[in-house]
Amino acid sequence: MTRARIPRPQEVAAARRDPRLVRAVTERHDNAWRTKGVCQTVDPETFFPVPMAPADVAIELCARCPVAGACLAWALSVGDCHGVWGGTTARERRAMLVAWRTEEQPEERQFADCTSDLIVSAGELVPQSRRPVTARIPRQVERTTQPFGKDTALMTREPIRASC
Ligand code: SF4
Repeated sequence: MTRARIPRPQEVAAARRDPRLVRAVTERHDNAWRTKGVCQTVDPETFFPVPMAPADVAIELCARCPVAGACLAWALSVGDCHGVWGGTTARERRAMLVAWRTEEQPEERQFADCTSDLIVSAGELVPQSRRPVTARIPRQVERTTQPFGKDTALMTREPIRASC
């Protein structure tokens, strides 16, 4: 298990102003997004480029997707750290994830503001220094299917590093 780099406060502040995150907050209750995505007819590999490869094609597709906000909200809710979701890359979502969790669960704000190492496990931020005392049981993620048929349950069972 490698340590995650903590998003800097200015990165989190910028993420909070990001229109994609604002849209995600607004559209987060649209549970029908999976059937409306532009990616329904696109090769799933497009949204999971190999490391260091550009994700431009996927991001362009997401830019004209009518459910990009709900899609990003889902990815942030489950702590998904791989691929392109709602027009964001995994790297961009690191700071968004901190902003998302602190907005959704204000009691977690102290964790996001601390300077200790964090890990992200199924969307939960846990200070490294306080594990396992404060580590919470990872949220049970319902086995579901992403719009392009990728099984998400396996992606959320194991701890997901904020640096991925
Ligand atoms: S990944 Fe999300 S935002 Fe992008 S096209 Fe698919 S459903 Fe739309």
